[in-house]
Amino acid sequence: MTDTRRHLLAMDDVGADDIERILETAAGFEDVVERDVKKVPTLRGRTVVNLFYESSTRTSASFELAAKRLSADVVSVKAAGSSVDKGESLKDTISTLNAYRPNIIVIRHPQIGAAQLTARWSDAHVVNAGDGKHQHPTQCLLDLYTIRKRLGRLDGVKVAIVGDVLHSRVARSNIAGFQLMGLDVTLVGPPALIPPGIAEATGVRIAEDPAAIGDADVVYVLRMQHERMEPGQNHVPSLREYASVWGVTARRLRPGQVVMHPGPMNRGVEIAPDVADSSASLIGEQVEAGLVVRMAVLYDLMTRPGVGGVIDLHERTAERGAA
Ligand code: ASP
Repeated sequence: MTDTRRHLLAMDDVGADDIERILETAAGFEDVVERDVKKVPTLRGRTVVNLFYESSTRTSASFELAAKRLSADVVSVKAAGSSVDKGESLKDTISTLNAYRPNIIVIRHPQIGAAQLTARWSDAHVVNAGDGKHQHPTQCLLDLYTIRKRLGRLDGVKVAIVGDVLHSRVARSNIAGFQLMGLDVTLVGPPALIPPGIAEATGVRIAEDPAAIGDADVVYVLRMQHERMEPGQNHVPSLREYASVWGVTARRLRPGQVVMHPGPMNRGVEIAPDVADSSASLIGEQVEAGLVVRMAVLYDLMTRPGVGGVIDLHERTAERGAA
């Protein structure tokens, strides 16, 4: 049987037409989230499972709200407090949840490829809400939405992605999606935090001078991701030194630049508190965009079955053929 499911696993699988469609759908949902009664019946009778094996505030809250705004039935499972605590494997957890016949599974997991496995082990459409340092595609979509809303365009916008690229799934998704939409990407940071070979693999520019952020229209600041750093490995001499050399402060910005951060922020480390709270900051807009963009992703997956696009369809088809 042909598998007609569509997934959102990585920005590398997505086409510019998919992105355009999702951003347009998201804009249409702005009206819904502003209403007194913030609900449309679009996904009534459908079930969305949110399965989070890693901490999350913005992504888990917005996926849950997004599904509820679309009138889906939503089950949110956090690894802590679930049978994962008792040692249940990812595969067993997925097959348990699959028994409830969810239409969509949204998964965040520390292991690279966990979302892909979920697509293989379940019958649901799968959305990757972050797999280790690999991908976080909905973050990229909401960032594109935010940039276009503020700057009025995507093509030719210069973005400096600053900081801990090495451990960042946001950077990996954003590099792919930003380049696809014609943005010009430069990575700015200490060499120890820039993945070796990334310039060759993706065509981005790399700047080892913090002053390089001066050329950008958008300064995209990444969190120092301590939880992904190997114990005992010192990527930077000290946080204080990192902050003084690479921290994005008001002094380093020029008028007209905007600043983004996926959150959560380490205020005073990668971003100065006054910058985060300034009128140049789009951080609040990113959070708002997260809701309508995730509504658009859930809607798109459920309403365009079998069309391809935001999907890694061949994998599963090939696998079924082989089985
Ligand atoms: N919230 C984003 C993520 O889950 C960024 C971060 O944690 O620094 O990847």
